[in-house]
Amino acid sequence: MGLIVQKFGGSSVANAERVFNVARRVIETYDQGNEVVVVVSAQGDTTDDLIEKAKEIDERASRREMDVILSAGEQISMSLLAMAIQKLGRPAISLTGWQAGIITDSNYSKSRIHRVTGERIRRELDRRNIVVVAGFQGINKYDDITTLGRGGSDTTAVAIAAALGAELCQIYTDVTGVFTSDPRIVKDARKLDSISYDEMLEMASLGANVLHNRSVELAKKFNVNLEVLSSLERVPGTIVKGESNMEKMLVRGVTRDNNVARISLCDVEDTPGKAFQVFSLLAKHKISVDVILQSIGHDGKKDISFTVDLDNLDGALKVIQENNAIIGASEIIHYENVSKVSIIGAGMTSNAGVAATMFEALYNAGINIQMISTSEIKISVLIEKEYAEKAVKAIHDKFHLGE
Ligand code: ADP
Ligand code: ASP
Ligand code: MG
Repeated sequence: MGLIVQKFGGSSVANAERVFNVARRVIETYDQGNEVVVVVSAQGDTTDDLIEKAKEIDERASRREMDVILSAGEQISMSLLAMAIQKLGRPAISLTGWQAGIITDSNYSKSRIHRVTGERIRRELDRRNIVVVAGFQGINKYDDITTLGRGGSDTTAVAIAAALGAELCQIYTDVTGVFTSDPRIVKDARKLDSISYDEMLEMASLGANVLHNRSVELAKKFNVNLEVLSSLERVPGTIVKGESNMEKMLVRGVTRDNNVARISLCDVEDTPGKAFQVFSLLAKHKISVDVILQSIGHDGKKDISFTVDLDNLDGALKVIQENNAIIGASEIIHYENVSKVSIIGAGMTSNAGVAATMFEALYNAGINIQMISTSEIKISVLIEKEYAEKAVKAIHDKFHLGE
């Protein structure tokens, strides 16, 4: 008996039948004597539909108003689920982000949670209510509605679990757990029984959107017991936890991320401080840079290429163009048809030849590598977007991850 936080994603609450399915699962946990907080996402494609609706009015609507409209999706789900639970004869109450005390910064559309006051949630639990909270949203110090970025409901759930000291945080979704690769791309992807916070954080950050990367960060920081499982099939899911190497796998997973763009600055001066100049400018504008490639200098000049998130491309180009008098690039080239394909695994550092094997898989598939970046726990390559799925399959195969 304890407090359990359960989060249900958009497809899990897509229609009335699914909402009742969720209600029954929640009630099962409640009837076992647990306190239950449920976090819900917007139904099905609601968030995308709301974005479209906003665009009909203004393609570049203010981020504050975008957050207001997007927060509505989760409010619909939370009330429907509370109604369904009540209809099935158990007490339930729904709360928006602000009612639940989800306090965030003011970075509209990708806010970070500062804290969860949680008093109201606690009070409702003490009244024996099942508490349904709208995912993905919070409130800033100006009492304005904020949202946490696409996929952010996972983070709401983990933040509440951390704040209230929940025994377990369950993320229910449309697959049965975390797989070696996206099971929708790689048919023989294998479900992992467990994965470490660090590996999961890399996977999520590199495109495995089964968990919002910030949710994994929080789970690690506050040591939240996290489980990913199916809302429809009753099979064991994946446990995300502290220690790794449970399965002694070299490479744990393969991901692809299409939300990238490449920028190249041609013929900048080959002098100390050039890279510092460029990247500090971008940092000042809160644009993070990922893979970086600098050519060997020739004739006193060099090229600097790097990637940014696709949604930061316009912003990055603007900053660079406005400051090119100082940077001094002869040409600023950008390219959007790229994808970042990565392998992740805590075991790969100590093993020579992992990179070579990955590159061999790409070579055999006839795929050219544009840029490479490595860290202790991952290797990423930038390739032409149209080959991303082919690359993921080839690499998954080469490392025998399906076996
Ligand atoms: P929800 O609406 O429940 O939050 P998401 O669409 O955000 O669901 O996340 C689930 C999806 O994540 C799956 O349908 C799957 O296609 C995708 N996915 C990507 N990589 C992985 C992976 N490594 N393991 C499992 N699912 C993955
Ligand atoms: N509804 C939001 C989205 O579609 C948040 C979420 O599903 O987690 O991104
Ligand atoms: Mg999600």
